[in-house]
Amino acid sequence: MSTQPVTATTQTRVKKPFVRRVAPDRSQRTRLAVQLAFAALNVWLGAQFYLWVRFYERGGEGLAVPRPAGVEGWLPIAGLMNLKVLLFTGHVPAIHPAALFLLIAFLAISAIAKKAFCSWLCPVGTVSEYLGKLGQKIFGRRLRVPRWLDIPLRGLRYVLLGMFVVLIGSMTAASLNEFMGTPYGLIVDVKMLNFFRHMGETSVIVIAALTVLTVVVENVWCRYLCPYGALMGLASLVSPLKIRRNVEACIDCGKCAKACPASLKVDKLVQIRSIECTACMECVASCQTEGALQFSLAPGREAVQPRYRRAVTPLAMAALVCGIFLAVVLFARATNHWQTNVPAGMYEQLVPIADQASHPGMH
Ligand code: SF4
Ligand code: SF4
Repeated sequence: MSTQPVTATTQTRVKKPFVRRVAPDRSQRTRLAVQLAFAALNVWLGAQFYLWVRFYERGGEGLAVPRPAGVEGWLPIAGLMNLKVLLFTGHVPAIHPAALFLLIAFLAISAIAKKAFCSWLCPVGTVSEYLGKLGQKIFGRRLRVPRWLDIPLRGLRYVLLGMFVVLIGSMTAASLNEFMGTPYGLIVDVKMLNFFRHMGETSVIVIAALTVLTVVVENVWCRYLCPYGALMGLASLVSPLKIRRNVEACIDCGKCAKACPASLKVDKLVQIRSIECTACMECVASCQTEGALQFSLAPGREAVQPRYRRAVTPLAMAALVCGIFLAVVLFARATNHWQTNVPAGMYEQLVPIADQASHPGMH
């Protein structure tokens, strides 16, 4: 008679003879709907902002539209500056307050639901994701940077974030307010639009290179270069919602790890704490084993039992990210902290000469 000890592997094989398959997952369709809605919102804001700028550039002729404050979501540095002013003075700055509130909304989303901002809301993340999918279609697989290079490259976005934090940290709240009140600070949004409208040769080459790289190598911009994503990743460290694997139900097929765009070892971990996790739920969508993988609330001691896990459904996730976003925007509007407080006469003077407004520190 054999006295061979029962190993973990043999236990697994004996314990899981039948595997119940899960119902088709709708997380990716739901996420795509939210991504498209936010992409459309950004196109709308961009078009309205363009018309607003053109109105002033034409000396008050053409279609007069109000300035869409939501465009300040594209001013993350202004958002960080204003966050410092709010924290140190208790007052919401008058210039670009929407940048502050949008930053708060995105930080709140990350602090509750991992880096969901990146994979559910950010239009750059959406474009990057679908460029990657295009690359997969063309080349049949996703190219992943080897680990020895991937780790130092991932540090780049933290270096960029650190530079902004040091710069903003070295300024007092008063000097930040003063900076925002300069012509440069007031129309930094117009300068951003002009950057894309009148792009120089170098910028075109850099953006084209990044686009091609994103098709070939997965997630180049988000994974290695985006300081905003780095900030969201840091906020996501406190997120109570995480991807959790039930080792009792898991059959170790490895599909989840293969599907993960962040190359996380989902099939080996019990819960995903990594700052790389964007709550995209692609791992959950790929898992065919009932109760094996969920995006769920932080477990109490009893949560090792699968029946206590509180999974977040795709619809609940969509409601959560959109709900936080809307709640913060509505709060800012209701408290009159949404629109930048600049008289039309000042825009009339500054918008047509936006390209001449240089950074106050660069004279
Ligand atoms: S662990 Fe899952 S949710 Fe997190 S990034 Fe990977 S696939 Fe997306
Ligand atoms: S996809 Fe991942 S969690 Fe699901 S059964 Fe396979 S290894 Fe386990």
